[in-house]
Amino acid sequence: MLTIYNTLSRRKEEFHPLVEGRVGMYVCGPTVYGDAHLGHARPAVTFDLLFRYLQHKGYKVRYVRNITDVGHLEHDADEGEDKIAKKARLEQVEPMEVAQYYTNRFHDAMLRLGCLPPSIEPHASGHIIEQIRLVQEILDAGFAYESNGSVYFDVEKYNHAHHYGKLSGRNLEDVINASRALDGVGEKRNQVDFALWKKAQPEHIMRWPSPWSDGFPGWHCECTAMGRKYLGEHFDIHGGGMDLVFPHHECEIAQAVASQGNEAVHYWMHNNMVTIGGQKMGKSLGNFITLDQFFTGSHPMLTTAYSPMTIRFFILQAHYRSTLDFSDEALAASKKGLDRLFEAMKRLDSVNVAPDAAIGVEYANDLEAQCYAAMDDDLGTPQVISRLFDACRIIGQLADHKTTISQEGLERLRTVMHTFVCDLLGLHDEAEGGNAEREAAYGAAVDLLLEIRATAKASKDWATSDRIRDRLAALGFEVKDTKDGATWRLDK
Ligand SMILES: [Zn+2]
Repeated sequence: MLTIYNTLSRRKEEFHPLVEGRVGMYVCGPTVYGDAHLGHARPAVTFDLLFRYLQHKGYKVRYVRNITDVGHLEHDADEGEDKIAKKARLEQVEPMEVAQYYTNRFHDAMLRLGCLPPSIEPHASGHIIEQIRLVQEILDAGFAYESNGSVYFDVEKYNHAHHYGKLSGRNLEDVINASRALDGVGEKRNQVDFALWKKAQPEHIMRWPSPWSDGFPGWHCECTAMGRKYLGEHFDIHGGGMDLVFPHHECEIAQAVASQGNEAVHYWMHNNMVTIGGQKMGKSLGNFITLDQFFTGSHPMLTTAYSPMTIRFFILQAHYRSTLDFSDEALAASKKGLDRLFEAMKRLDSVNVAPDAAIGVEYANDLEAQCYAAMDDDLGTPQVISRLFDACRIIGQLADHKTTISQEGLERLRTVMHTFVCDLLGLHDEAEGGNAEREAAYGAAVDLLLEIRATAKASKDWATSDRIRDRLAALGFEVKDTKDGATWRLDK
């Protein structure tokens, strides 16, 4: 039985879908005005893991992740320039060129990280009608007011009838006190009110007609409107980064309750932040490293390039609700760990089976049960990885002929390793990739060199034997002489 931590109840709950056999899942996607960084990779990988696991469990999952291409203003505020419009102005292009460019780059980065594409990827700008309808419903219910062509959510009035702040654990007093420092209420009745519709200034390009003004929707509207359109008034899971709990998701709850009378979401899930030296990594803080910089090693804080699978593995080594502190050393350690996993999976091919073996099928069955138990416990990937490393040690012993395994045991072990490493954690061996045949040919050539070296050694031609070993070492091949002959691995 899968249990997941529900931010709303602040405890782990058994997962029961609203409709048997089906899961509806909404995850807040990127605002496409810059390259994706590690802080974007974390929710993408976390919810990809959940998407994979739910499907593995046999659910038919509809995974919706939006693209925010309008309405997200600077500093997540109700005033100021639209993030995409600002980038477009600076680069002298159309706002939609900015959105398209960074959407393409985001897709490319996610593909490289092994994230499966969502079932539906709606754009905010393609759902203006749905958002206008939502704003009208909230107005009709009496929880919003029009002011100078803009529409604001009346937080105080809503809080009389419902509880504003239930997700983040704040009460309205705290929110009011926190916002008192900002001066000028302007068009709002209360500083805590948030925009549902904004009248566009004359210079604002991204604008649509509405009953109130030519303008654009408030940032929080899109997820409420699109979640309902594609998953219905009530759906199972809403996810995102922890920084979205307040105000974004708090406002989403208020919008849903105000418009339809009750809450839309059953389980709220949030991944923790990526930090650098204890501080949150983020575009607004200017301390971020883009995924492209990781993949190419082009950032002063990186000693080398790190492959997409290393980044994915680094993210999965921490539990999604723990902070993930970035450092070059931690990434280097992740690369080693990942190599160890794939090395072990390859070595499974050179394990001999024995009829009355020390290790039977029970070993793989236990391993599988432990890995499932860890996944079912709120996606405990660190525990899964730890069990897989235990298995790597056993595989090492088998490959070194220090212990034996039965045929059935070996087949089960291979299946369990593949299921967890490849299907669920979503990792693949990058050394193989699309060039598997070429890699195999290069490997066979190295095998041939080692055969020639063995012949040279047998005839005491030490000069040839040493030359082959040294030249291979210089190219990065680590040659090991064992009693069964020489083995090699490429340390690159
Ligand atoms: Zn959202």
